Amino acid sequence: MIYQILSDDGHPMDSHAELDTSGITLLSRGGSTAKGNVTNAEYGPALRLILRRIASARLPFDRAWVDSLDVQRLPIEQRIILSNGELDADGSSAFTLMSKRMKLVGQGAGRKGGNSTKKIRIQFGADVKLLELESALRTIQVREDVRSAERLPAEIFRVVTAEHVWNAVEKLRQPNFRHPYGPSIDFDLITNEEERFPPKAVFGLAATEALGYEILPRHFSGGLGTPCFRILESAGFTIVAKGEESRPIDVPESPDDRSWTEGKPRLIAHLRRERASGLAQAKKDWFVRTHGKLFCERCGMDPVAIYDGAHGAACIEVHHQAVQVEEMADGHRTRLEDLQCLCANCHRVVHRLLKLALNKQAESARVGP
Ligand SMILES: [Zn+2]
Ligand SMILES: [Zn+2]
Repeated sequence: MIYQILSDDGHPMDSHAELDTSGITLLSRGGSTAKGNVTNAEYGPALRLILRRIASARLPFDRAWVDSLDVQRLPIEQRIILSNGELDADGSSAFTLMSKRMKLVGQGAGRKGGNSTKKIRIQFGADVKLLELESALRTIQVREDVRSAERLPAEIFRVVTAEHVWNAVEKLRQPNFRHPYGPSIDFDLITNEEERFPPKAVFGLAATEALGYEILPRHFSGGLGTPCFRILESAGFTIVAKGEESRPIDVPESPDDRSWTEGKPRLIAHLRRERASGLAQAKKDWFVRTHGKLFCERCGMDPVAIYDGAHGAACIEVHHQAVQVEEMADGHRTRLEDLQCLCANCHRVVHRLLKLALNKQAESARVGP
């Protein structure tokens, strides 16, 4: 099966490999740069990553050889470019050795200079389970049926959760993150930090993670009422027409919130963070995936055991557990790890304690040491 290597920041690189339980075959770089039709253009960076990941996952590396068609007549011993024991911890000196040796394989009288982007085989000394290999190397499968398809049926996108959408937004926040989606023409997705991202890019990246193979722009359509927009909105994000202002979340919402936050702008900031687009839904999805169900992290209350499944989850809220209230200052970006799932009762109590702590702080500041 053919796989693509994911870069450290999670984008599928232009480099393809075949994986099996006994090793990896990395496909050669091909085509001409001048004509702009290069295949596997990221061969070099991908090979570096593969070597580093083999080393750090302690996969049973045995040796590597050149496997291109023109040298397959030679015995493997004459095509070896890395031997057992030559793979270093971060793979960088192995990479240099392999590149140098690759050029020499098959060279002899009358043959022109070789390149260092050939098809190679990396062989293990013992079998590795395919699943283990896929996760150690950080690859995604290339589904030929998907690659060649135009639109994909909308049902397959049902596996996209709020957590996938949240992760996609985090990827797009990296300044140099590369993806196959262009800028948006008609709509913007607005994040809790008031950033604007193309909704199709967010959804495509979320679907790529959810499905485990690359989803391309032509595989689905965006726009009002499409499954793409519905899933983004139910993940807690707002989508507005380009140029349209976003409506800020109205906090404090309830009379209880109002009395709690009175005179305390920091507590309003706290509420704003907890109710920000996408966060609460993503946290709950993550929590269920990790623990198998939702429950209160403070008192252990399992709402689904008490109420019924569909509505019980409504009593779990998401609390921002920054230890120091100072951390809530502007510019602090909320992460899923900063959040805690609490039942509505515990959440209320925790908020009271927070206000008490703030009051004490203010008092001691007034009195002085
Ligand atoms: Zn509780
Ligand atoms: Zn809270």
